[in-house]
Amino acid sequence: MTERKILIYPESKNKLRMKSEPVESVSSGVKKIIKDLKDTIKEHEEGIGLAAPQINIHKRVVIVCLGNDQNGDWEAGTPRALINPQIIMEADERKDFDGCLSFPGLYGETIRPHKLRVIGLDESGHSFDEVFQGFNAVIVHHEIDHLDGILFIDRIKSPEDLYRMHKKPSGEIVKVPIGVKINPL
Ligand SMILES: [Zn+2]
Repeated sequence: MTERKILIYPESKNKLRMKSEPVESVSSGVKKIIKDLKDTIKEHEEGIGLAAPQINIHKRVVIVCLGNDQNGDWEAGTPRALINPQIIMEADERKDFDGCLSFPGLYGETIRPHKLRVIGLDESGHSFDEVFQGFNAVIVHHEIDHLDGILFIDRIKSPEDLYRMHKKPSGEIVKVPIGVKINPL
């Protein structure tokens, strides 16, 4: 296992804000980055995507756990790498759930495209040109943002849209807006 420490905001703010460089090809070095990303995300069951800069590697490599939401129940799939991903079309902006392994316990509602056409390289070094839809588009957009130093908190439009999840003794999970004290009842 080669899992790495995930950089956390705000302690690693400067590193998370850096712009990442494209890679020239899917070299053994890039394959090692992909393996490190996959090993790292395995340690975080809530993780559905991870970008290389989050493990302090400023290269344009991300992994995404795309799911199938045909039945309305979205479930994360196995991690897949997108290398030098580039958005060539985006549409259908909507508000949706967001969160990030660099912001443990913090969630929000961001506005992102739900239709995204992306070109790039896959793990074998082959080029792809693909349209991502729905929550899959949200994940891909979130991870590509990381490569430009953009974080999900930047896409929160109103303070009430940022919250923590709190489990009440009853087992009920409630959203607690930031700055509001948790009522144990
Ligand atoms: Zn993130």
